Amino acid sequence: MDIKEKIALLTEELKQHNYNYYVLAKPTISDYDFDQKLKELSALEESHPELKLPDSPTARVGGEVTKDFPSFRHLKPMLSLGNSYSQEEIKDFDEQVQKLTGGQEYSFLLEHKFDGVSLSVHYENGLLVRGVTRGDGVSGDEITANIKTIPSIPLRLRGDNIPQRLEVRGEVIMPLVAFAQLNESRAAEGLPPLMNPRNTTAGTLKMQDSKVVAGRTLVFYAYYVDTDELPVEKDSVYMDYLEKWGFLNSGYHSVVNDIDGVLNYLDTWEEKRKSLGYDIDGIVIKVDELGLRQEIGFTSKAPRWAISYKYKAEEVTTTLESVSFQVGRTGKLTPVANLSPVLLAGTTVKRASIHNADEIERLGLHIGDKVKVEKGGEIIPKIVGVLLEERQQGATPVVFPDICPECGTPLIRVEGDANHYCPNSESCPPQVKGRIKHFASRKAMDIDGLGSEIVNQLVDEGLIVTYADLYDLNYEQLINLERFADLSARNLLNGIKASKEIPFERVLFALGIRYVGETVAKKLVRYFKNIDKLISASEEDLIAVPDIGGQIAKSLKAFFEIPSNVQMIQKLKLFGLNFEIEEKDHQTDTLVGKSFVISGVFSERSRDEMKELIENFGGEVKSSVSKKTSFLLAGEKAGGSKLEKAEKNEVKIISEDDFYKMIGWTGSTT
Ligand code: AMP
Ligand code: ZN
Repeated sequence: MDIKEKIALLTEELKQHNYNYYVLAKPTISDYDFDQKLKELSALEESHPELKLPDSPTARVGGEVTKDFPSFRHLKPMLSLGNSYSQEEIKDFDEQVQKLTGGQEYSFLLEHKFDGVSLSVHYENGLLVRGVTRGDGVSGDEITANIKTIPSIPLRLRGDNIPQRLEVRGEVIMPLVAFAQLNESRAAEGLPPLMNPRNTTAGTLKMQDSKVVAGRTLVFYAYYVDTDELPVEKDSVYMDYLEKWGFLNSGYHSVVNDIDGVLNYLDTWEEKRKSLGYDIDGIVIKVDELGLRQEIGFTSKAPRWAISYKYKAEEVTTTLESVSFQVGRTGKLTPVANLSPVLLAGTTVKRASIHNADEIERLGLHIGDKVKVEKGGEIIPKIVGVLLEERQQGATPVVFPDICPECGTPLIRVEGDANHYCPNSESCPPQVKGRIKHFASRKAMDIDGLGSEIVNQLVDEGLIVTYADLYDLNYEQLINLERFADLSARNLLNGIKASKEIPFERVLFALGIRYVGETVAKKLVRYFKNIDKLISASEEDLIAVPDIGGQIAKSLKAFFEIPSNVQMIQKLKLFGLNFEIEEKDHQTDTLVGKSFVISGVFSERSRDEMKELIENFGGEVKSSVSKKTSFLLAGEKAGGSKLEKAEKNEVKIISEDDFYKMIGWTGSTT
């Protein structure tokens, strides 16, 4: 077979696998084999760019960078929808339709109103040629390279009856799980959480680097077809076409004959929508007959043949009692709203997050204000607005302090960062204690017996000032303290001693350098191998590391420029902590390309040790089961929901023993 044929074959094959995976949810090949084939195709394309096919699945992984998105005028404007919030308004809508159609029969197509970002995709002879955002409705931005990375948007249409020219519109959304995971990994890097899936989706679609887009989980649900080449009379028929052409179908649209059917559907989804796995903010009700739509027509803003019904956002009103300013271990100030307790989406809410000083200003908060609190996709509720008309005369505005509430040092603001920081890292109490608590925490040095209270006690008693002082502690000092007995003192000392075995990447994370979370620490360690190289690296050297940006580089430089920090590292080195990569003798690639989810408890190692072992063999560990998961490693008492999810997604479930066999360890291990 010549190269041209080989490329064509691989392109076809990989496209089919993508479709099986993302649209049918029935993969027939392992992730590993898929990646191998994709790599093969990508290599062939690189050496023979002229043979690369226009619908090559290698576009899915991104790579193209767009500096300015060109503007594109929509063929037909992308309109809004009229909103309604009550059954009465829906009934009015139905009456209006009756009037405008003069007694002809019609039915309603009911769809979810996906809470995402609308997108128009253009196909020519079945090939995706363009993706355009809604923009102002008249023209939008062309973001073609970015949307090519979204697996549920076909690069070439499948099946028959493919029009020469076709426009498909739909909504791009981010599933809640993907959003939560993204925020989790941001938290690990010390980055502030993103507000909600919709804004995140909008931001993602406008990123310059399509690789970043490819790395985020976005899903496209199509709901609109525009072509004059098919003899179709009902929109619901187009929905069937969409599915045959290879688009993802949410599976939930429905056709009903009368208003009762509509009300029934609204009612059904009021509760059910909460378990969908993505946000919908309502239902769209459309007249199904395309001919009648012509007769009914449009207003200047929206079609008259459709209306959206919006479910009430989960929002309550309560009183803002006060705002506290918490100082974290990095000195960052976080304003927290203290509220009169109120029930919201099933939980009592007493606090809400306010991100930073700008947010306080934007909301114009005063103490005693009646505030609207909302719980959307995000975990912590937030203040979305103030009832100005209910503000008391002479209420005190909330002022962001200019000095640290804990130590009185004037606060500073770093360029490119919306937060305020207390720069007194040496002796600001919550920073001193926070750093040690972080150092001792489970994902860092994992020091047994060194909980939050004990850290407070040791610092307050003057026994330790920095985490390096931990390694100087002795039995006599501890046993004389309140709350310590023989056992607890020994336990703590053993915990401290054991932490000397913790690998370099976790030690680096434990140091608590701003923006250096777990993932960043891993990347730095893999690249520099030891601390001396990292300390002496210039800002340019640091930026050269994959995924390390200017902000992280500056923060690292700033940390190592403080002599006491470097002295502390030298001290920790002398105590025997790991500051270089241990090249493990069993390190192999056995598990490269395989992803694992761990559940339950294991007889021979802790879950964290299991995770480390998998990573040492090149595998990846994820927190939740998806179609992409290769194996669920289930120990005793493995979680029921994970098992269920694994079965549903046809993920192979393996035992601890199976796992050891997989990596070539038989039976018990040492
Ligand atoms: P609005 O922005 O409230 O005027 O609502 C109009 C927007 O709803 C459209 O621009 C789409 O982005 C979005 N939308 C979500 N789901 C649907 C759907 N099933 N049909 C039509 N529009 C939808
Ligand atoms: Zn301070």
